[in-house]
Amino acid sequence: MNAHADAGDAEAAPADLRFARVAIDVPAAQLGASLFDYAVAGHGGDGPLAVRVGDWVVVPWGRTRRVGLVIALCDRPEVDPARVRAIECVLDDAPPLPPAWLDLVAFAARYYHRGVGEVALPAIPKLLRAAPSAARRAGGATRGVRSSAERASGAPRARVSAPRARVSAFTRARARWEAQAAPGASSPEAVRGAPPLTPAQRSVLAGWSAAAGHAVHLLHGITGSGKTEVYLHWFAGVLEADPDAQVLLLVPEIALTPQLHAQLAARFPHERVALLHSEMADGERAAHWLAAVEGRARVVLGTRLAVLAPLPALAAIVVDEEHDASYKQQDGVRYSARDLAIAAAAQRGIPIVLGSATPSLESWFAARRGRYRVHALHERIGGAALPVVECVDPRGEKLRHSLAPRVVEAIDATISRGEQALVFVNRRGYAPVLACSACGWLSRCANCSAYRVLHRIDRFVRPGEATPPRSARGPARYRLVCHHCAAEQPVPRTCPDCGNVDLEALGRGTQRLEEALAELFPGRRIARLDRDVARRRGAAQQVLDAAHAGEVDLLVGTQMLAKGHDFRRLTLVVALDVDAGLYAADFRAPERLFATLMQVAGRAGRSGRASRMLVQTRFPGHPLFAFLARHDYAGFADRLLAERRETGLPPYRHQAMLRAEAPQLADAVGFLETARTLAAELDAAGYGVRVFDVVPMSMSRLQGRERAQLLVEADRRAPLHRFLSTWIDALRVRTPRPAWQLDIDPLEI
Ligand code: ADP
Ligand code: ZN
Ligand code: ZN
Repeated sequence: MNAHADAGDAEAAPADLRFARVAIDVPAAQLGASLFDYAVAGHGGDGPLAVRVGDWVVVPWGRTRRVGLVIALCDRPEVDPARVRAIECVLDDAPPLPPAWLDLVAFAARYYHRGVGEVALPAIPKLLRAAPSAARRAGGATRGVRSSAERASGAPRARVSAPRARVSAFTRARARWEAQAAPGASSPEAVRGAPPLTPAQRSVLAGWSAAAGHAVHLLHGITGSGKTEVYLHWFAGVLEADPDAQVLLLVPEIALTPQLHAQLAARFPHERVALLHSEMADGERAAHWLAAVEGRARVVLGTRLAVLAPLPALAAIVVDEEHDASYKQQDGVRYSARDLAIAAAAQRGIPIVLGSATPSLESWFAARRGRYRVHALHERIGGAALPVVECVDPRGEKLRHSLAPRVVEAIDATISRGEQALVFVNRRGYAPVLACSACGWLSRCANCSAYRVLHRIDRFVRPGEATPPRSARGPARYRLVCHHCAAEQPVPRTCPDCGNVDLEALGRGTQRLEEALAELFPGRRIARLDRDVARRRGAAQQVLDAAHAGEVDLLVGTQMLAKGHDFRRLTLVVALDVDAGLYAADFRAPERLFATLMQVAGRAGRSGRASRMLVQTRFPGHPLFAFLARHDYAGFADRLLAERRETGLPPYRHQAMLRAEAPQLADAVGFLETARTLAAELDAAGYGVRVFDVVPMSMSRLQGRERAQLLVEADRRAPLHRFLSTWIDALRVRTPRPAWQLDIDPLEI
């Protein structure tokens, strides 16, 4: 991107660069264009605007106006100059976009076969990418917006009778950040300061600090080995070495941010930490984003979307829990934040650390090939042992609420000692399906190929008090909810098909488990954490705080409990209903299950007390459990890699998935069949690309639309991408065309 340098010195665009190439958020693959040319000169021959690469501009788009980003300047438009419209104005108080970020966005657009605008603009907070109203601009009193007309010498400004100096979204965002608490709050941790690193931690840190310039470091550290502490020390060094430098910490879950935010704020009392995630209120998000983008915040913490923040002085990146599937965006541009973070680090020539107790196979493979440098932490801080893992086979046992006697006894013994137990089941709600035992009716969703899940409607109970048994809580009310389209309905009193009054809840989710535990362990304090609980503002934090404070005997929950938390008194973990993950159709299911179980196991025994993990499974002989019992991630990963090589799966092959959806399955399938024929005509095989059969998606119906997919794969990435470009160009001109999109490196097959 040296156009910036070329144009940077001149106030106005040189006379021969009269056109700007502007990125706008429109579906590029469908339109066939991703950048749009606008004239730099204003309407009616006004003087030229000073437009530079990286500027934010307002441009006319159809009958509307949009904010776009200037990606390049040129002397000739790609379309008929007579049809080129003019830039309306430049947003003067928007921050300039750093060339390194424009490079990243260009890379992402190429790699994911999307438009630059589709990548760049959604990455900007809504408030800042809304076009300021035309009326306001015409007022001329708005600071920070200059139009071509105004710039023409002495353009009359008094056309609007009462110009009101309205404040721009940028000014507001800046003021908001400044108004928030200044740094320097002295929390207990700030006073305590950083603990000295252990020798193992120190040698990891030395490895990162020694490498100058770009390097990808994979930190394989078991749970509780003090990975976070090494990140913090590393950041401290980077921030100290350069007064402008910025650091970025990516985490997979919003739920993990409050704890880390507090930790970062305490550790860097002179810095203000910018937080970036999708559940922040618009104004808050704009304030934090702008502070980061203008370098006023040097420490940036966020979820996947933070990878696309245009940080001007980014010097170090950490992707924590790098294996987590949440780093992949599942709609719009389906980017992997981990992969983009690596690309950003490479482009900027800076180091990046990927941390995990269970790295993704992609990263493990890269490390085995020597592309990433591996650093390991094999011991827990304080020498605490990992839990002893045992499988409990429920077959032939007298179960209580579907729990094996050994599980019940272990929980009882743990909480009787005053320690905590965690029961993990990766399914929220009361029961996954409601069934009629007389005729076989099931609570299918009318819009999706999925079952509506039975949910108990309950009021949030503040954690910390003894949980009353179900029988003492009065009659429960339930609803059926689809987890895919969110459709809800009351529970039918009788079977809709046969009128039978005995409808039966099959299986269990967190709510039912919580209820069962309250019956089994009367008088105990039970707290549940899942996405339903977390929906209530502050509730997740209340549960976690209560757990940390020792006000909870039994924790029940999903993955949300598995990640990151440092529960000091927890000595027993029970994992239930894991068998589906052993034999699922998705080839990534065992990798995910193993990672999840390692993570949950990692919550136990962190303070040094002896701890256990019980896995209730009907397949105790499955090899996955043997690796789990040895806490042998490397052994398991190497075995999976060997399998993937034999079967020709990622990371040995590269995949892309073309998906289509339409009201009728035949239309989606028909389009993909056309695409398949087209691929053959374009000689996919000549590129080394294998094209599979068109199949309905495993969940073929979603929100009333039928979905199908077509997988293509190749041994090498470059020819695959060359083929994809050609293919998409050819697909665009086909009609009829249902909604379609391309997913590069799909995680769900
Ligand atoms: P991980 O992220 O690897 O699971 P954490 O970073 O959460 O591990 O560390 C586990 C616990 O050990 C935390 O309570 C942390 O404060 C503590 N800890 C980490 N490093 C040190 C150290 N060098 N000295 C003392 N305590 C440490
Ligand atoms: Zn029935
Ligand atoms: Zn549905």
